[in-house]
Amino acid sequence: MVSDITVVGGGLAGTEAAWQAAQRGARVRLYEMRPRKMTPAHTTDRLAELVCSNSLGSDLVDRAPGLLKHELRALDSLIMACADTATVPAGGALRSDRDRFAQAVTERIESHPNIEVVREEVTGIPAGVAVIASGPLTSERLAAEIIKLTGSEHLYFWDAIAPIVTLESIDFSIAFRASRYGVHGDGTVTAPGEHLGEGDYINCPMSRDEYNGFMDALLGAETATLRDFELRSDQFFEGCLPVEVMARRGRDALAYGPMRPVGIKDPRTGKRPYAVVQLRQDNIAGSLYNVVGFQTNLKFPEQDRVLRMIPGLQGAEFVRYGQMHRNTFINSPLLLDATMKFRHKVIDAERTVDPATHSIFFAGQIVGVEGYIGNAATGLLAGLNATRALRSWPLIELPPATMLGALCYYVSHADPKTFQPMKANFGILPPLDHPPRDKRGRAAMYAERAHQALANFQASIDDAKLTAPALQPPMAPPQP
Ligand SMILES: Cc1cc2nc3c(=O)[nH]c(=O)nc-3n(C[C@H](O)[C@H](O)[C@H](O)COP(=O)(O)OP(=O)(O)OC[C@H]3O[C@@H](n4cnc5c(N)ncnc54)[C@H](O)[C@@H]3O)c2cc1C
Repeated sequence: MVSDITVVGGGLAGTEAAWQAAQRGARVRLYEMRPRKMTPAHTTDRLAELVCSNSLGSDLVDRAPGLLKHELRALDSLIMACADTATVPAGGALRSDRDRFAQAVTERIESHPNIEVVREEVTGIPAGVAVIASGPLTSERLAAEIIKLTGSEHLYFWDAIAPIVTLESIDFSIAFRASRYGVHGDGTVTAPGEHLGEGDYINCPMSRDEYNGFMDALLGAETATLRDFELRSDQFFEGCLPVEVMARRGRDALAYGPMRPVGIKDPRTGKRPYAVVQLRQDNIAGSLYNVVGFQTNLKFPEQDRVLRMIPGLQGAEFVRYGQMHRNTFINSPLLLDATMKFRHKVIDAERTVDPATHSIFFAGQIVGVEGYIGNAATGLLAGLNATRALRSWPLIELPPATMLGALCYYVSHADPKTFQPMKANFGILPPLDHPPRDKRGRAAMYAERAHQALANFQASIDDAKLTAPALQPPMAPPQP
């Protein structure tokens, strides 16, 4: 089959993108490297395999993930249609039988007359109109090509998470509660004379000697081996550097970074400590705290040893150790429009592929969206816009008042210096004009406004009902 659009990756985003384009009459070649080349997480050859949990999140319309699902259903999403045929009971959440779900997606994609599935690894940026949806575990050879396109400073390979300790294991004869400068998370300020114990953070103070001893231990500690890639510090998202990588930047790097003591007074001495490790509440019950800024790749026994040198944490019980996991994602705010199209203009001439021959869209986890359905959602928009690009129609952005529009807007407009993957949540929607005071009332109003915005959008868009003028002649056949 001569193809009009190449889709790279048969995951949640790639299958949705392929489906949307094929339903609009475009001929799609979908490349999926499994089973010939597996990722470290997938175990089958099926398209849209759910790699971990089988929960697709809330299906209640007044919850952010639920609102997103309702929008996708309204937009004829393949992933939602298949999820709805493979549900298992789970209260207000949508939980799928993972085998039935992936099987349903595979069958519908493979039997679509406009889709050809090619089981091959793509090792270059395809020419013509293409959607790159190769996911958090993008193969190394393709990642190397994406680097040429984006610059290595704009493609991240790793996410690091911080350890979590139980509240009851913290020694409060040393640690104390206080917010920096007495300013709490809700914006209120500790009144003069008010006890600092009401602060949002638990603080573990260090003297200069304690800090130096801790730095020596940290710099000498063994890290876990990471597979697949030789690790370079520029492969981390800068706002989420492992603490040991930060420590290597200089002896005071942590004292000026996550361990900075400014605005904190130790109630035992009345003075500012030399350095301070802060712990932030991690669960609603307040029984768990994460060690702020201490995302790490130290081996677990080394975390026990080194982190217990922190005053107040000598008896710490770790319910989760810090860990690093592969998560390939681009700096979308610099590189993408809210249409999911790659912006050639921000890349210097040496790196870029020719915009005259390449029309590139990105979708899925690689754009910095989190969650199965969020990733399918960006695939939907990328597939829709790839088809419009093929026909030289103007590309579309979804209204920011919809959850899908807000997600796409967020990843393309967030601060590129601090960009982190984002999941569906009400916080990314534009504020309400007259928000009700109660949370559920606000959520219902967000949902109502999103429905209205989506209905208006669908009424205004020429291809929402799949009718389309004849296709232009196909572009140059894509190179795998
Ligand atoms: C270990 C792990 C656990 C996770 N657990 C969860 C969870 O519980 N819940 C959740 O919501 N999200 C989870 N995620 C995130 C999850 O990956 C995404 O939500 C979702 O799968 C991303 O969809 P995607 O289409 O972007 O990528 P994927 O679903 O991963 O699809 C990408 C596809 O591209 C293929 N591919 C890669 N490179 C190439 C190439 N060069 N050529 C051809 N094909 C290629 C891959 O084989 C894969 O099938 C997890 C991720 C990982 C890595």
